Amino acid sequence: EKPVTTRDSAIFDLIAQEEGRQRVGLELIASENFTSAAVREAQGSVLTNKYAEGYPGKRWYGGCEIVDQVETLAIERVKELFGAAWANVQPHSGSSANLAVYNALIEPGSVVLGMDLSHGGHLTHGNPVNFSGLRYRVVGYKVNPETELIDMEEVRRLAHEHRPKMIIAGASAYSRIIDFAAFRAVADEVGALLFADIAHIAGLVAAGEHPNALPHAHVVASTTHKTLRGPRGGIILSNDLEIGAKLDRAVFPGYQGGPLEHVIAAKAIAFGEALRPEFKTYARQIIRNAQALARAFQDRGYRVVSGGTDNHLLVLDLRPQGLNGTKATRRLDANHITISKSTLPYDTEKILHGGGIRIGTPAVTTRGMTEADMPTIADLIDRALKEEAVKEEVHAFAGRFPLP
Ligand code: PLP
Repeated sequence: EKPVTTRDSAIFDLIAQEEGRQRVGLELIASENFTSAAVREAQGSVLTNKYAEGYPGKRWYGGCEIVDQVETLAIERVKELFGAAWANVQPHSGSSANLAVYNALIEPGSVVLGMDLSHGGHLTHGNPVNFSGLRYRVVGYKVNPETELIDMEEVRRLAHEHRPKMIIAGASAYSRIIDFAAFRAVADEVGALLFADIAHIAGLVAAGEHPNALPHAHVVASTTHKTLRGPRGGIILSNDLEIGAKLDRAVFPGYQGGPLEHVIAAKAIAFGEALRPEFKTYARQIIRNAQALARAFQDRGYRVVSGGTDNHLLVLDLRPQGLNGTKATRRLDANHITISKSTLPYDTEKILHGGGIRIGTPAVTTRGMTEADMPTIADLIDRALKEEAVKEEVHAFAGRFPLP
């Protein structure tokens, strides 16, 4: 690691503190991960100095001959990773990638069918205070109340009733396989575009551990920083070059100016890492860990939403324990166990609190934890939720696993 300069101690002290917090704690937020030193080095590089409005070979600024190569490598690698004919690597975040998709492909006021937020959808899938809910008429599909799985018959019924221009498949808190082929069949029946938002599962998809959305969806967007383990950012993919051209215009000049070439370089490094065979082993271990963790909670009497997981996360219903998401987060935070509160399907708690918590294994798997470590995590969480002080045990346990 490079030595940290002391020029601005206010900020660099805080960065050192944050590094310490990440090192001693148990990071179980499903959307977080630990990037490699190479990813962080590229992101902290001189590429941040460069303006490059436009796309490789078509820039508004001079001196882009090197960043053109960086961005082209990022595009080529991500196309290979997901089997895409076209890619845009410039969106600054997942939400801005999604904004470009809406702007490029549908008119304001159009009907959109997406997953209901309290059932696992994301803010950009129609929250009333988000651009998506403000600008479009969003209809939400819910999971089946018994199985807590996406009910494709319900999606079909709503699609025929509301005739959406676009259907969104993808979620922030859904622990099961998403059947993109079934979504495409429904989209085709009503003449809608299928937009797959694979932000959470992108790393699993890249590794072949979750079915790929790309052969089915008209457009796919993702973040790069969750299971994919890259820098914070977004990408958009398609197999349709005409749709791709519209999306390129929607990103620049549509709503972004200069791309963040330092972040694009870091994305390229992460895509390169994900193309290696070790990444497949990593993605498989993420899922094994999530499944082992779900079992460990069930063994301790907890209810896991939908009865388990096929991916990197699980949602715990804490209402039987007399808790909600806010109370649980507070108790776990006090012991340096980091999770996110979650609403539940058909939740009876206030949305502000949520009836449970979402737990993910991407970050602890990066640290090298395996199935054998999951009962320890479940035990620490169980005891912290019962207001036992386990902070010292958390530090000792986490300390056995190095950060990259
Ligand atoms: N889409 C989904 C499904 C997500 O879960 C998220 C992030 O939580 C996003 C999009 C947005 O990503 P960002 O936070 O980078 O804007």
